[in-house]
Amino acid sequence: MILTDTHTHLNSEAFAEDRNLMIQRAIDKGVSRLFVPSVDSETTKDLFEVQQAFPNNVFLMMGLHPTHVKENYLAELAHVEEQLEKHQFCAVGEIGMDLYWDKTYINEQKNAFEKQIALAKKHQLPINIHCRDAFNETFEILEKHRGEDLHGIFHCFTGTYEQALQAINCGMKLGIGGVSTFKNGKIDQFLNKIDIAHIVLETDAPYLAPTPFRGKRNESSYIYNIAEKIADIYQLPVEKIAALTTQNSKEVYGM
Ligand SMILES: [Zn+2]
Repeated sequence: MILTDTHTHLNSEAFAEDRNLMIQRAIDKGVSRLFVPSVDSETTKDLFEVQQAFPNNVFLMMGLHPTHVKENYLAELAHVEEQLEKHQFCAVGEIGMDLYWDKTYINEQKNAFEKQIALAKKHQLPINIHCRDAFNETFEILEKHRGEDLHGIFHCFTGTYEQALQAINCGMKLGIGGVSTFKNGKIDQFLNKIDIAHIVLETDAPYLAPTPFRGKRNESSYIYNIAEKIADIYQLPVEKIAALTTQNSKEVYGM
């Protein structure tokens, strides 16, 4: 059985003590395809180090995370652009809008999101979207740029049924993670109405650990717990969920 974690911060500080053991634990459990988003230029070196340690399992994205959009964001975007020219990446991410922590840079966030969508189109890459407390702003931009040349993953999808359909309509698959296992997570109530062709699995490790690890450090091997929950929702064997969602991830990332 091959499972795919479409969004995992393997380079995080949270794994400083046992990073390679943690990654090996995931691979041993069949979670052998690991996709790592970029946050800002300070973490680029760490991303490449993780990939060099596990070149057959780790695939990297390049992008500027919306919570890292500050005064210097144009310099950060220049870094993203330069990296995309120099190296092979599987996606532009994570990019999007986050108005939960801070609304100061809302216009800069919008601009950074649009500029990175353009970079994804230029390099024929998918996008990996981060959206928190900003569905309206995110969809406004997605609707503006939607088309054959735009596709990707709406990471950590926690919206409503209608928003799920809208994301799919904009060329996105839904990244489903630990929140689907929470009692108050809500998406488990309508997910079975969405064709599984639109679903991919993710941990967002080290954040948002699934039940029964909720509140603890998350890691990619816990994809298994998320796959079990999705199997329960769709009433399919977990092996089938693993195969289908891995196939969906290949469709997005092309690898
Ligand atoms: Zn993330």
